[in-house]
Amino acid sequence: MTAHTLFAESALLPDGWASDVLFEIASDGSIAALLPDAAGHPEAAYAHRVAGPVLPGMPNLHSHAFQRAMAGLTEQRGQAGSAGEDSFWTWRQVMYGFVGQLTPDQVQAIAAQLYVEMLKAGYTAVGEFHYLHHDPEGRPYADFAELSERIITAAQVTGIGLTHLPVLYGYGGFGGQPAGTGQRRFLHDANGFLRLINRLLQRHDGNPQVRIGMAPHSLRAVTAEMLKETLHGLDEFDDEAPIHIHIAEQVKEVEDCRAWSHQRPVEWLLNNQAVNGRWCLVHATHMTEGETARLARTGAVVGLCPTTEGNLGDGFFQAPEFLRQRGVFGIGSDSHISVSPVEELRWLEYGQRLLYRRRNMLAVNGNASPSVGAALYRAAVAGGAQALGRPIGQLAPGHRADLVVVDTEKPALLGKAGDVLLDAMVFAGNENPVRDVMVGGKWLVTEGHHVAEHAVLARYRATLAQLMA
Ligand SMILES: [Zn+2]
Repeated sequence: MTAHTLFAESALLPDGWASDVLFEIASDGSIAALLPDAAGHPEAAYAHRVAGPVLPGMPNLHSHAFQRAMAGLTEQRGQAGSAGEDSFWTWRQVMYGFVGQLTPDQVQAIAAQLYVEMLKAGYTAVGEFHYLHHDPEGRPYADFAELSERIITAAQVTGIGLTHLPVLYGYGGFGGQPAGTGQRRFLHDANGFLRLINRLLQRHDGNPQVRIGMAPHSLRAVTAEMLKETLHGLDEFDDEAPIHIHIAEQVKEVEDCRAWSHQRPVEWLLNNQAVNGRWCLVHATHMTEGETARLARTGAVVGLCPTTEGNLGDGFFQAPEFLRQRGVFGIGSDSHISVSPVEELRWLEYGQRLLYRRRNMLAVNGNASPSVGAALYRAAVAGGAQALGRPIGQLAPGHRADLVVVDTEKPALLGKAGDVLLDAMVFAGNENPVRDVMVGGKWLVTEGHHVAEHAVLARYRATLAQLMA
């Protein structure tokens, strides 16, 4: 059944830009039909005419929602007693202090504000890599899925599509080292973790806006046995559920992995797990050429988070080599130091330009357009959709009606169309180029404003007042 129809003068479809596109949106929030060159179609006269070019919404494949509230609080030298030698690991100390005190209400308020900001920036779905499970003493809440439910509620209140990825966190370092006090809110054994997945599937399976997957935190936080047991358990529930893992983000992590296994992290994972298109390897910063080629061939998605990777001093992903091997990637905002798909894509390209002292680096294989901004946008949408395991990322029948209307009245975008518009968006626009956003067939953002932004902001403001007191 058709709920409503839209008409767009231009839209980015899977085969490229199309003109005069009529969209029929089904009442379940999916695209029922889509007809290009439909200016003369009888329904075109009655359809809602969108105010600018239409893009598929960008999936944000990697998020730790609570970290949004600490953006800007970790940019002072010597925090965590580091005597000026600040690193990922001293940042992590500050983060543990922050996360240690959060209440369920605060977690929900922060996530809702973040998701409003994501929607306004053009992210229409998020992969929430969720490791905060227990109370501040490390005890399960009365409902052991409490904090997962808070994230799911925040997604439902704001309307963003959610792939919820409860994190499996068992240990404090490679080879089953005991976890520290700062990690006690994160911990499960294999049975407890599978109980959580099962509970979430029972409650949310069948909701087209929510998908449940899992995220072994990293090779630091699980043992080989625990990984095997939980992946087997997940397969019994859903053998296509997405699997995300942090990997090879830091040089120290690579060194510790070699000391433990005589293999590098990506090498170990590829040797010990059947990595395929269900997997998303987040960061994968430190790889040899051989690992890069092997990983690309698996069809797994690499989850790149350039602003966080820059903020934490991670290093540069081997993007040119990975793309030469037809590797799949998507983008995430991870720590949320920035909430902007434009900034993630720009940093991804600029990092490589600065590293290699060349221009227009990241042309994507199989994409006929020479336009770098367009190639990056399209590749990140496709890879993000794959990583989130939901029918998103394409303006095509059967996919969710998740779309973004670009505001071509922004000065940087005036007179630009097609792939050049995407180049201008990615490289020249500092103003948010997003005007309207639809997710699952519902308009959530119109003329730059989210339907629930005032109520969500009021709760966030009260939360920040508590946290900063
Ligand atoms: Zn992360």
